[in-house]
Amino acid sequence: MDIDPRQLLLGQTALITGASSGIGEAIARRFAAAGAAVGINYHSKPDAAEQIAKDLSSQGGQAIALKADVSREDEVRAMVAAFVAAFGRIDTLVANAGIQMDAAIGEMSLEQWQRVLAVNLTGQFLCAREAIWQFEMQEPTPHSRARGKIICMSSVHEAIPWAGHVNYAASKGGVLLMMKTLAQELAGKRIRVNGIAPGAIRTEINRATWETPEAEAALLRLIPYGRIGERADVAEAALWLASDLSDYVTGTTLFIDGGMALYPAFRAGG
Ligand code: NAD
Repeated sequence: MDIDPRQLLLGQTALITGASSGIGEAIARRFAAAGAAVGINYHSKPDAAEQIAKDLSSQGGQAIALKADVSREDEVRAMVAAFVAAFGRIDTLVANAGIQMDAAIGEMSLEQWQRVLAVNLTGQFLCAREAIWQFEMQEPTPHSRARGKIICMSSVHEAIPWAGHVNYAASKGGVLLMMKTLAQELAGKRIRVNGIAPGAIRTEINRATWETPEAEAALLRLIPYGRIGERADVAEAALWLASDLSDYVTGTTLFIDGGMALYPAFRAGG
């Protein structure tokens, strides 16, 4: 396939949720560098989102910051309407926003359970449904073989149970089967739906696991490849999934985890 790697998303648009920080920010910046007009969804950090949009615009790209709590239907609807008003269409949705509210089962409140499910799973459902309605309305474009693409940010915890994080693990397990079901339901409409399962990526969500040398050493024992992941590791995978390079790929989770999901405790023979 003859595509300039710097222009993989030329002429396309992408809406990225939870993009004022971390993995979402890295994806927004990477997609913009590959030619996409990007929507930077934020929940609580307008200044950070506006700054990213400003940076990208000053580099010759097109970017807007869009406020929405992804767990709220009205706000998701308004966000997608504002994105389409600005850029005319959606080629890729990256449903990335996510939170952790950790507790052992005996101490987990219903509020902690419901809030994590609301953001991590229902939030992806609401954003996906809105994007799919838009995909179905818009004309095909010469810039993308698929009519639309959805990338669901999952986690290695869609597969690995995680004591003390039952709400988070359940939300990501839900994302896995939501993603696969949507992929099955929508392939005939040329809509591709895939997931990314990051392992340990250095961001705010897991600062406690890497910020001291002791914590980092403990974390590295779980990563056969021997390093903590960086946001760019995930952004490059997202770029591939959003581009025509992966046009025959749907219903798949890409694990970006340095081997974390390979049962590293069995390295010594089990
Ligand atoms: P992060 O905390 O920097 O990013 C999460 C983003 O989601 C933030 O920008 C936050 O403002 C946003 N957000 C939270 N609630 C929201 C809401 N209601 N509406 C809209 N946005 C909201 O952490 P991150 O590591 O970049 O996490 C991004 C995604 O990657 C999450 O879905 C997370 O579960 C997933 N993930 C991260 C790792 C990791 O190691 N960092 C591993 C596996 C999965």
